[in-house]
Amino acid sequence: MQNTRIIKSACRMCHGVCQVLVHMEGERVVKITGDPESPTSRGYICRKGAASMELLYHPDRVLQPLRRVGKRGENKWAPISWDEALDEMAERLLKIKKESGPQYFGMMHGTGRPYENLGARFANAFGTPNFTGVAHICFWPRVYANIMTQGMSELPVCDVYGQGGVEPQCVMIWGCNITGAKGHNSSDGMCGATLQKAIKNAQKVIVVDPRRISPAENADHWLQLRPGTDGALALAMINVIIVEDLIDREFVNKYTVGFDRLLEHIKHFSPEWAEEIVGVGAEDIRVAARTYATVKPACIQWGNAVDQSMCNFHTARSLLILRVITGNLHVPGGDIVFERPQGLRVKFPYLDVDFSGFRFMPLQNYQYALDRDYEKQNISSTKRFIQDRSLQFLDFLKYNFYPLLRKISQGEGAALKLMAELKGSSYPLSPAIHPPTFW
Ligand code: SF4
Repeated sequence: MQNTRIIKSACRMCHGVCQVLVHMEGERVVKITGDPESPTSRGYICRKGAASMELLYHPDRVLQPLRRVGKRGENKWAPISWDEALDEMAERLLKIKKESGPQYFGMMHGTGRPYENLGARFANAFGTPNFTGVAHICFWPRVYANIMTQGMSELPVCDVYGQGGVEPQCVMIWGCNITGAKGHNSSDGMCGATLQKAIKNAQKVIVVDPRRISPAENADHWLQLRPGTDGALALAMINVIIVEDLIDREFVNKYTVGFDRLLEHIKHFSPEWAEEIVGVGAEDIRVAARTYATVKPACIQWGNAVDQSMCNFHTARSLLILRVITGNLHVPGGDIVFERPQGLRVKFPYLDVDFSGFRFMPLQNYQYALDRDYEKQNISSTKRFIQDRSLQFLDFLKYNFYPLLRKISQGEGAALKLMAELKGSSYPLSPAIHPPTFW
């Protein structure tokens, strides 16, 4: 009998990051099960997670570089050594660099995985500012809306875990289908099975989705909006809550600024106005808004659909405002904001700059790509030198005094704005170039 042992780990077959137990026999994985000691997934594992070792040991898994030997699409490949592959790629890339310049090489990466920082580091070493991704339609619109609206980058999440001792009484699922896939799924670290339990225990369930996703079957309100019209629906719900005076006045008075301007802004966006755009009856919008505002605590489980809707940033802002005016933000059983555990090394561009390479990217490379074109503007070399030095200084300032600046500015949003103003840029310190411009 070979040496058997269990290693605690985390599944990364999707964004749930369920904690798992990896059962080993010798050096071979024989089984993966949920970790009952996990504070979040609590022993849960979906079929995809349980089957992930099949991926590890699949006979077709590519384990060494392959060179195409047939025509494109013929699917003919020959194995080559790592040295050969690296030499060949380096040769081609250096040719591009020599003939056309490093900027002619661009890189994109997908959703967050630990290796994306290495990609940025590579682009930096190669000398191209053209490193970007798909974040503008995935997750980051909500992150930026959060920074600008609430002054922090951590997204509020449904307290389906009952961390505050109370479970949500109203669950509003907005463009997020993590309970319907076979064996459930997850999103943004939220486990579908846990959400399913919260839905079962809640008094009221509201589903905002064009599709009849599984929670819609028994939901109290299913708002079957036209795809992409989420922003109009959110504005109409805010309108109802304000017009019918269902707001949490104490919360609003204590923790918000600009409510008077919101009152003015929202007047126009009645449910009747939204009805035509959204394709949901005005009365249905009214009733759902009343439920969300009055059955407490309430949480909004939002998903990627928000990022892929029209006006994603402002849609996300509206959904944050809904939480705030009803006093459902950062209350037990509502939408809560987790604090980062002390002493953890977080891989985030602003915090892990040495590793990611963002620190060493000459800032002016971004600047050329984003805001300025020295050649066309005919800027003198002296002026360019001064601008470059001041950008480098700001770069230094950004990373060394950012925490201080954040404190002084009383919030991340204000600090970013200040830095953007100092930099004279239209873009507040983005670590990658603007994706639509890249395209
Ligand atoms: S939901 Fe499934 S695939 Fe996703 S992290 Fe959890 S076990 Fe893995």
